[in-house]
Amino acid sequence: MRKVPAGFLCLLLALSMAVLPGCGKKTATEGQDSGRKISVYTSFYVMYDFTRKIGGDRINVTNLVPAGTEPHDWEPSPGDMANIEKADVLIYNGAGMETWIDQVINSINNKKMIKVEAAQGLKLQENSGETGTGSSGDLAYDPHVWLDPMLAKQEMEAIKNALATADPGNKDFYEKNYADNSRKLTELDREYKTAVAEFSRKDIVVAHQAFGYLCHAYGLNQVAIEGLAADSEPSPARMAEIIKYAKANNLRYIFFEELVSPKVAETIAKETGASTAVLNPLEGLTESDINAGKEYFSVMRDNLSVLREALN
Ligand code: ZN
Repeated sequence: MRKVPAGFLCLLLALSMAVLPGCGKKTATEGQDSGRKISVYTSFYVMYDFTRKIGGDRINVTNLVPAGTEPHDWEPSPGDMANIEKADVLIYNGAGMETWIDQVINSINNKKMIKVEAAQGLKLQENSGETGTGSSGDLAYDPHVWLDPMLAKQEMEAIKNALATADPGNKDFYEKNYADNSRKLTELDREYKTAVAEFSRKDIVVAHQAFGYLCHAYGLNQVAIEGLAADSEPSPARMAEIIKYAKANNLRYIFFEELVSPKVAETIAKETGASTAVLNPLEGLTESDINAGKEYFSVMRDNLSVLREALN
């Protein structure tokens, strides 16, 4: 007798589960939306990546800021607003990262939606206003908390709690993923601490003022070409200041980001005889980075290896 292909049996099984919702063992605790994956919207890349790490295949997650787009000056379209309105959960960083979030939250008419400000409750650093230009002068606090793995852990915990509230049937799954990632974050933190202990230099020149929490966690010092929001060309006076600083400190590298033009960093590097390298603030990955399988942990380790190169 001819064998029935395994795939066909799976299909039959899947169909029978679909028409007999009582058979699914998840249905009892999921409430009215039994069997349906919750729909989760995230604001920009790192929120998307954290959410995916916790939610896995149990959620439908959509990221708002498209790949390769710098999120600081992005704004949702009317179409995005209509989509967000239908979400079960909306996850954003907060602390001023999403300048559009209040407007969206005030205009959506979905009382059941769970909104998560992942950075809520974290101790934020005040805007030092060091670069003194651009709209970043308007940001009261530095929003880039995720670049400190220990703060990233707290953001993931907030995300985990929200998913478990929205979808209690999968709570154990979310808890387990959180525990796994929490362990990985502790490991990453340890790697940074071990590496930094060997560094002979502590100063970095970066494209925008995104590395405050990372520097604070590991005793480094950032000098940023642009402010907190990556939107301002430095003034000639600021350029001269940075060039002077890089020369005085004998900096070997000037860092740039993939989503911001490297022109200014290249100019400074040329003036000072330094090289350029990417230090990625994880605000957005390019399509090719995503296709290459890059994510929070691999990018944080890429960042650590260029820091080693620059500061050892
Ligand atoms: Zn930024």
